[in-house]
Amino acid sequence: MGAGDRTAPQADSIPVTALKGVGAKMAERLARLNIITVQDLLFYLPQRYQNRTRLVAIGELMPGMAVSVQGDVQHTEVKFGRRRMLLSSISDGTGTLVLRFFHFGAGQKASLARGTKLRCFGEVRSGVNSLEMIHPEYRLLEQEEPPPSEQHLTPVYRVTEGLHQPALRSFVEQALEYLHNGAVTEWLPAGVRQQFELPPLDEALACVHHPPADAPLDLLAGQCHPAQRRLAFEELLAHHLSLRKLRASMQHHSAPPLKETSRLTGQFLAQLPFSITSAQQRVWNEIRQDLARPFPMQRLVQGDVGSGKTVVAVLAALQAVEAGHQAAIMAPTELLAEQHYINFRHWLTPLGLEVAWLSGQLKASEKKDMLAALSSGQAHLAVGTHALFQEQVEFDRLGLVIIDEQHRFGVHQRLALREKGSCDGGYPHQLIMTATPIPRTLAMTAYADLDVSVIDELPPGRTPVSTVAVPDSRRDEVIERVGAACRKGRQAYWVCTLVEESEALAAQAAEDTAALLSETLPEITVGLVHGRMKPQQRAPVMSAFKAGEIDLLVATTVIEVGVDVPNASLMIIENPERLGLAQLHQLRGRVGRGSRESSCVLMYHGSLSGAAHQRLAVLRESGDGFVIAQKDLELRGPGDVLGTRQTGMLQFRVADLQRDQEMLPDVARAAGLLLEQYPQHVVPLVERWIGERSQYGGV
Ligand code: ADP
Ligand code: MG
Repeated sequence: MGAGDRTAPQADSIPVTALKGVGAKMAERLARLNIITVQDLLFYLPQRYQNRTRLVAIGELMPGMAVSVQGDVQHTEVKFGRRRMLLSSISDGTGTLVLRFFHFGAGQKASLARGTKLRCFGEVRSGVNSLEMIHPEYRLLEQEEPPPSEQHLTPVYRVTEGLHQPALRSFVEQALEYLHNGAVTEWLPAGVRQQFELPPLDEALACVHHPPADAPLDLLAGQCHPAQRRLAFEELLAHHLSLRKLRASMQHHSAPPLKETSRLTGQFLAQLPFSITSAQQRVWNEIRQDLARPFPMQRLVQGDVGSGKTVVAVLAALQAVEAGHQAAIMAPTELLAEQHYINFRHWLTPLGLEVAWLSGQLKASEKKDMLAALSSGQAHLAVGTHALFQEQVEFDRLGLVIIDEQHRFGVHQRLALREKGSCDGGYPHQLIMTATPIPRTLAMTAYADLDVSVIDELPPGRTPVSTVAVPDSRRDEVIERVGAACRKGRQAYWVCTLVEESEALAAQAAEDTAALLSETLPEITVGLVHGRMKPQQRAPVMSAFKAGEIDLLVATTVIEVGVDVPNASLMIIENPERLGLAQLHQLRGRVGRGSRESSCVLMYHGSLSGAAHQRLAVLRESGDGFVIAQKDLELRGPGDVLGTRQTGMLQFRVADLQRDQEMLPDVARAAGLLLEQYPQHVVPLVERWIGERSQYGGV
């Protein structure tokens, strides 16, 4: 079956209703498993396998085995224990096995009369006096029958209500007929398959659904049989290619070349109270070269919390302004946007630049002024939340879009924003910043459409944050400790978290906590910020905290990003067990910004599970965002590490980013080969795996 063989009907255009036994009702049930076409069925892999290819002597059984046995009924009785049950013992001359049923009818009891011959399949467990099977599948034998005729291992699929294994197996069997008739096209040329040791697609599919009797069950169970790996590889390849395609198509668009003059960037650097780190300098060099090109930059800057990404963003923005263009910087929360606005104005007003501010909460008249300043070009920069990209916002000559803390937005939003910024058939340059360091291999897939720069150094003089975990039964002690620290002139955060992502409930919890703390610590000035406050209420609190007029800031996780108060050196996080490691690391990054010794108290609720202990221990032991991200990945899997909002993109049918991590470099290499030598295979491959979902394959 070659790539050109498209005479056979293709499985992706054959609806499941073409199969015997699939009517409208059944099609609906299959659709619940995302199975719409015969091809979907072929790519719906078994979760595990059973070996029914041979009969095992009862005398050889061991607990844990899932096997077929055959024997004559010795004895059947109904027992009345805590639950009524039917027990039937069978023997094949080598031993005796008990079959135990909790759900049974009178007919069933009668059918299991002494002397009846049975063949059953089930998992062997050790019972009270002998081995047993609970609710085995079984069949009465009329007479001596030859041993099972199954030639292959039996697949076990994830099923759904109204759709049982035997039915699903029979549908897959029919789908395999289509496969054997050439209904699925091979898009990986023989050369590529050889290089990466991948079996042909039809073989792989046949094998995963019907592995030969002697196939290694352990490899199959671990989903790392070559046939399974071939499919995972192809799926990862399709995802990678869709992002690469996107990247390539972006490079065909034009962007204003933003030539550097160093007029503003030089002035800005000269007025900074510090010199930039060599990592900041290196990343800035990469960005300034990209900006000077006539096609859109698509660069991701990864840098741990506190590594100084904002300064790099300002430099990029200034280069756009020098070249006569505008820049927009977008933050995921109102609070961070506010902080950026304050900082940008502080830095850029002396350079004679005007900064506009756009948030969802502006008064109509203010908003009108801001919009006018942006569309006339009077404002050089815009800072805001996603409000920046709403319909009415028009820029005079937008040259650069900066997205801060991108992990909070999600991949789809990022791509939608890119569209939003388009003008005259061209696109602005795009700089994306994130503090969620993603392990390199994972980044290759998640960010295959971007160039990646890493700020891998913290500014000098930072002291590591020492972290402890304590149960909230010691709350009084913790409050005392906060009071003592504040009396010594230190500033602290108290972060309230909740299970539900309800800012309303979290706000309530923060209000209650703030009230309690001001009552318990009357000599301490307590401030409060949460997401339900209006900017006019929040801004004075933030600036008072920054100015040192507030000692203790009680907050929800709204302070997770962007708050920068170097004098704050103590943080209490309530219920840390409810947050991801990356989020905790982000939060903790609010302290340890000055030269003062900083600490973080993780105050957990109740008793922790082993896994939760392990997670918090990671934070105690490491302050390095990359190490923490790697651990987070191991403990929680990539979907969560990338933020649940992004999982839509990284939801795979077969592949598993964590299990298949080590394939990713090969996937990237294979993608390069395909794009170069077999470009006509790329689109169908992407369509096969991503199809309609390919929001990022379009453009
Ligand atoms: P993040 O990467 O988390 O966004 P920020 O840009 O907010 O970090 O920077 C954190 C703090 O470090 C800020 O107070 C910033 O002014 C300061 N900073 C940034 N770069 C340097 C540097 N090279 N030397 C000293 N301080 C720096
Ligand atoms: Mg930042």
